[in-house]
Amino acid sequence: MALSPVFRQLVDKRVVLASASPRRQEILTNAGLRFEVVPSWFKETLEKSSFAAPYEYAVETAKQKALEVANRMHLKHLRTPDIVIGADTIVTIEEQILEKPVDKQDAYKMLSRLSGKEHSVFTGVAIVHCSCKDTQLETEVRDFYEETKVKFAELSEELLWDYIHSGEPMDKAGGYGIQALGGMLVEYVHGDFLNVVGFPLNHFCKKLSELYYPPPKHTIHHIKHDSIPSVETFEIPSDGECDSSDNTSCKGAKKPNNSGIIHPSGKCINGSGNCIMPVDSQNGVKENTTQFPPKLVQLLDGFKASKALFVSSKLKIFDLLKEKGAMTSVDIASRVKASVRGTERLLDACAALGLLEKTHQGYSNADLADLYLVSNSESSLHDFVLHCDERMWPLYTRLELAVREGTSQNHCPFGKKGEDLFQDFYYQSTEMKQHFMSAMDSIAKVTARDVASAFDLSQFRVVCDLGGCTGALAYELIEIYPEMKVTVFDLPDVISNISSFQPSRQNTAQISFSSGDFFKDNFPEAELYILSRVLHDWCEEKIHILLSKLSAVCKPGSALLVAETVLDEKRTSPARAVLQSLTMTEGKQRSNLEYQQLLEKYGFTNVQIKITGNLLDVILCFKKVSPY
Ligand code: SAM
Repeated sequence: MALSPVFRQLVDKRVVLASASPRRQEILTNAGLRFEVVPSWFKETLEKSSFAAPYEYAVETAKQKALEVANRMHLKHLRTPDIVIGADTIVTIEEQILEKPVDKQDAYKMLSRLSGKEHSVFTGVAIVHCSCKDTQLETEVRDFYEETKVKFAELSEELLWDYIHSGEPMDKAGGYGIQALGGMLVEYVHGDFLNVVGFPLNHFCKKLSELYYPPPKHTIHHIKHDSIPSVETFEIPSDGECDSSDNTSCKGAKKPNNSGIIHPSGKCINGSGNCIMPVDSQNGVKENTTQFPPKLVQLLDGFKASKALFVSSKLKIFDLLKEKGAMTSVDIASRVKASVRGTERLLDACAALGLLEKTHQGYSNADLADLYLVSNSESSLHDFVLHCDERMWPLYTRLELAVREGTSQNHCPFGKKGEDLFQDFYYQSTEMKQHFMSAMDSIAKVTARDVASAFDLSQFRVVCDLGGCTGALAYELIEIYPEMKVTVFDLPDVISNISSFQPSRQNTAQISFSSGDFFKDNFPEAELYILSRVLHDWCEEKIHILLSKLSAVCKPGSALLVAETVLDEKRTSPARAVLQSLTMTEGKQRSNLEYQQLLEKYGFTNVQIKITGNLLDVILCFKKVSPY
């Protein structure tokens, strides 16, 4: 298929779909695009009358949705995506835009207006390319729209009401969904059917082809020489960047003599000896049909990349380069007391992974390393990286046994001392406890803003963060809600050790620490309780104890905020949470519905879930008011 190479170009990119629409997600997933979903918080409130044509409204809304997500991910989640896709679908009849119906009467008005007539469905799409220069987000937007004409049959009152009562019209622009029951209303469709479903896939692929495969200046046949796409080959070549019509000779692309030999047969043998057959594609570029699947390359090499990150963090290479600026491999090797040969290989690996930059002056930190890997940076994940190496890596090396036996392997690498995982961490040694707390603190600092701001919590003055560890979330909460008082409740071993984690420049009078065991001891009184990254750790019996206690102590109207990664209903996404489950045998990750049912079972109601797109999603629910 001619368009699929475009998606392969994106395989190493962080692609984000700024839409919660399951239909758009399905269209793009079925087409083979790999992406994350971060629903946009942009309110669709643009003034329609200020646009000369309805499609301009859809394009602008799509653009604003994508830009909101790009900015939020860059600022709040400190993760800059490479590409954000925004889309907005509208239905128009006689130049008037039909929104989603507000109630059944509204749906009736809309559908009777469409009955027997032709209308237009427009989807505006924005493709936002993001880059980060000196920590500033830079964006380049490409947008387009697609129009499809749809004619409805004459609809009888009975059919109309049957359809409305099915409930399908309520969340759909124009009051119908063509892919399901609404298909019965349609006499004909002129144009892209998927555009009516919510995403003009064909036009989107063409647009990407224009971006990634600009038409060659001269029509010559050429060969792609590298079977494994690398990040650099995916630069969008601007006009001046190509020195010939050959896409592969653009800036950053691999040169044939580096990685492959062209045989007289026209076949290319790449550096690893794989034979790659060139075939003609639409625009005359020869493509590989026998590519080593990039997805598999990524999976196979994942562990090598992780370990390169762990070792360079352990050797504090990022700290050294932050302090000294660019250094040669010889100087770095001498400072970290390691062999020159080994250090050079590690540095090159870090450069290949985008953690370091390599120039003629030597190696220096990439922005990503400066921001997150330097141990004393504000958003440092250094201690979490070490935690992954010291605590997680040994567990994953025992994964086969964990799968075969269905048991936790925690006791094997670390030995069992306490009643549970946390006691094992804390009883091992003071150093190990400190490392664990530092790891929790570093990850909580990066997620705290999202958790604290996912809902408006200003109505709660007295808050208790159960298992709140070093208080990272509590400090964020009082930044946002200056009236709030927060008690951090955790095991005595943790509370006795929190002094080194207090931020120096913050008024901490509103925060208190209280020690205890949340399974056994009374909780401090509060209007809002928080369980952040706690529930997934425990078995059903322990959760029953914890939630029963919470349910008993919460007064009607008081609330519980849960921060966890929420799985999709298929339990296969997000991959990070699913992979984390592999070593959990006691606890488990839960889906949206599972959290809702769990919380309702313990007397909580009005369960609202916010998928943040960051590591943690947030759930807010309220203690039911008793009917008596
Ligand atoms: N809430 C923090 C966050 O989101 O980063 C820390 C999460 S950490 C995975 C779990 C926390 O629960 C640890 O701080 C641990 O000490 C605490 N914890 C474990 N068992 C506990 C218990 N029985 N009573 C109180 N706290 C406990």
